[in-house]
Amino acid sequence: MQSSVSRNDFDQWIVPTYAPASFVPVRAQGSTLWDQQGKSYIDFAGGIAVNALGHAHPDLQQALTEQATRLWHTGNGYTNEPVLRLAKRLIDATFADRVFFCNSGAEANEAALKLARKVAHDRAGEEKSGIVAFNNAFHGRTLFTVSAGGQPAYSKDFAPLPGNIQHAVYNDLASAAALINDQTCAVIVEPIQGEGGVVPAEPAFLRGLRELCDKHQALLIFDEVQTGVGRTGWLYAYMHYNVTPDVLTTAKALGGGFPIGAMLTTEPLAKALSVGTHGTTYGGNPLAGAVGGKVMELINRPEVMAGVAERHRWFVEALNDINQRLHLFSDIRGLGLLIGCVLNQDFSGKAKLFNQAAAAEGVMVLIAGASVIRFAPSLIITEQEVKEGLARFERACRAVVEGAGS
Ligand code: PLP
Repeated sequence: MQSSVSRNDFDQWIVPTYAPASFVPVRAQGSTLWDQQGKSYIDFAGGIAVNALGHAHPDLQQALTEQATRLWHTGNGYTNEPVLRLAKRLIDATFADRVFFCNSGAEANEAALKLARKVAHDRAGEEKSGIVAFNNAFHGRTLFTVSAGGQPAYSKDFAPLPGNIQHAVYNDLASAAALINDQTCAVIVEPIQGEGGVVPAEPAFLRGLRELCDKHQALLIFDEVQTGVGRTGWLYAYMHYNVTPDVLTTAKALGGGFPIGAMLTTEPLAKALSVGTHGTTYGGNPLAGAVGGKVMELINRPEVMAGVAERHRWFVEALNDINQRLHLFSDIRGLGLLIGCVLNQDFSGKAKLFNQAAAAEGVMVLIAGASVIRFAPSLIITEQEVKEGLARFERACRAVVEGAGS
């Protein structure tokens, strides 16, 4: 017999880094979840852009359980078939020649930043160690990645921080150009700032960063942890922008809910990370490899990418209609199924209220900062689920509006 547990236990037993919702999900199918009381929720949060194929996808279950009967883990003294197949899929589908596997987005970015420092040190010496990142960026929670991230609230309490990281203004090429020079080893940027408010890069901004990196022999790192694996309607957002990075990081949706991360790069750069220079016990584990391989097989198809564009239209049209009725958003932005509704002045800073009201009505949405409501649902969410979820979301919005007036 398992003992009974509840949301209140979280506050007793778990390190209080999170403030989870008041309900505890216990099972899910497609884009619907149920909590301990049997209440249903339509999932527009997608586990923070992770559950790209929804919940309990039968093919992913099969890939995971088949692998679970064969081989779980060996450590990196041995390679394994699933991870080799996944590596080949990623290489065939992208600019990359080589892949480093790890377990999360932060670790993929950590590897990318370490690679950039190592390449620069090997080729030019230790003075070439500058990293240029952007205000409001989010790259993970290790000390290096939180320092590259552009939200001091997440890093300041952990000083001293790794040095030689500077932040420019996102979408402002002149501000980046002022910081990038021959001592710069890397520029790290999200093609769409996800946590920072669902802010897409201007195409000219990314093209300009590419040119500056070429001019100063710095690596251009695209953090596609949130935008990758079909989220934008392209397998990776760099394909939409037509700007190819030297290093790309991917995680989240790559495992469809199973933890995995990867850093993709070119042959000449990969050479810098020779045997023993970097690693992680679970990176490229057979279970993650098997699931990741199936995710890539299912998502990297023209009909799935076209489906993302179609679902984008469903969301944006319905959100515009809601906005016509309730006057909440000053902007609805994003690409594919990474969509942000920017709250107007009347509701500025109140995104969390909408998130909580949504949960009460039976729909899960995300926030991105205090004033943006974010949607990152499954890439194969059904029309019925979208309709039902948005009807619930509108009821939640009305509840907030009425609460604000009372
Ligand atoms: N990079 C970006 C763009 C992200 O959105 C995130 C997570 O939200 C990360 C990195 C960190 O990924 P993880 O939480 O898997 O370490």
